[in-house]
Amino acid sequence: MRRAAIAPFRLVVDGTLCDGHGICALACPERIGLDCWGYAVVDRSRVEDARTAARARRAVAACPARALSCLEVALVSEGRQNAPLDAGARGLAHGPS
Ligand code: SF4
Repeated sequence: MRRAAIAPFRLVVDGTLCDGHGICALACPERIGLDCWGYAVVDRSRVEDARTAARARRAVAACPARALSCLEVALVSEGRQNAPLDAGARGLAHGPS
């Protein structure tokens, strides 16, 4: 069976926003762990498979502190690291702002 193609991205956490709720690690345990204080530690390697991508986006949407983002790989390599790919997914979790 052929794997579905996705646009690769990196999952990142803004440590200044993370409150240590830990919900993200439950949503995407293959990419997010928690340190000894409960703050998110994220594997920033490229997400290229659909299953991990879905879990990563679920983690972004579930974060009550809006500390997680999915960054498009092309934007990261161009140095535009603050451009979130999943701004819409964040809005799903928190409503319009
Ligand atoms: S859900 Fe958000 S605030 Fe909680 S640990 Fe994960 S990144 Fe931090």
